[in-house]
Amino acid sequence: MAQALGEAHGGEVPRSMDELRALPGVGRKTANVILGNAYGINEGVTVDTHVTRLSGRLKLSRHSEPEKIERDLMALFPRADWTLLSHLLIWHGRRVCIAQRPKCEVCIVNQLCPSARAPRIR
Ligand code: SF4
Repeated sequence: MAQALGEAHGGEVPRSMDELRALPGVGRKTANVILGNAYGINEGVTVDTHVTRLSGRLKLSRHSEPEKIERDLMALFPRADWTLLSHLLIWHGRRVCIAQRPKCEVCIVNQLCPSARAPRIR
């Protein structure tokens, strides 16, 4: 990848989805991370394992394929928020809505979540 970056782009990380995806080992998820976080370009929503899980639990998407989940999220949220959205979902997925046992009892969106397992403790 680094070699291709040097040869095709003079060592500079490109700023478009197509150019990034043409680099070896770079898929849509990585390209979204780079564009959103390095360049502030909201080209799409980064969908990793946390975003996939939370999109299902919050019923933001009924799909399991990352590209279909991403399409659903892009339709639901303003473009200006796409990079922040994936950060918020990933953070929430790591700290509260964890894979094995979600901490529904302390979750801030407990009362809105269709998958909540327990009433929220206030
Ligand atoms: S209520 Fe539970 S399942 Fe829903 S987002 Fe919060 S931790 Fe996850």
